Amino acid sequence: MRRRDPSRQEVRETLRQAEKLVKDSLETAKTDSLSEAIRQLYQVFPKEQWLERAVTRYLLATVEEQSRHTWLVKGVPELGDKKAYYLVTQVGDKYECSCYNAPFGWTRRKNICTHIAAVMLYKRRRYIDEYISDENNDY
Ligand SMILES: [Zn+2]
Repeated sequence: MRRRDPSRQEVRETLRQAEKLVKDSLETAKTDSLSEAIRQLYQVFPKEQWLERAVTRYLLATVEEQSRHTWLVKGVPELGDKKAYYLVTQVGDKYECSCYNAPFGWTRRKNICTHIAAVMLYKRRRYIDEYISDENNDY
């Protein structure tokens, strides 16, 4: 991955930033694409802490698209990751993450992991950005 590893300090600050972003997105009518993506994800998964971790991964730019249905998500030790990278794949409308293969993976399977959540956020935001810019191009 192109980006260097974030420092502990950076991760802590990003977590705080993510906390504020999630709160603002849910409580105010901010219309930027990231706030919109956060709101959409919250409608499906109304779990704030989970979202904050996903937003943190997203803000740290740990998501890298490999192909249309495959993403590499860089591990962040401060978020409890043991591996350097996780592979997220999409099959139909289902996602799988390589962290599911780890011990205690079954607990994660019930609660969609935040690697997948970060990918969902990445996809949604890009979709919203493209949709809005397409709309603008029409006029
Ligand atoms: Zn995972």
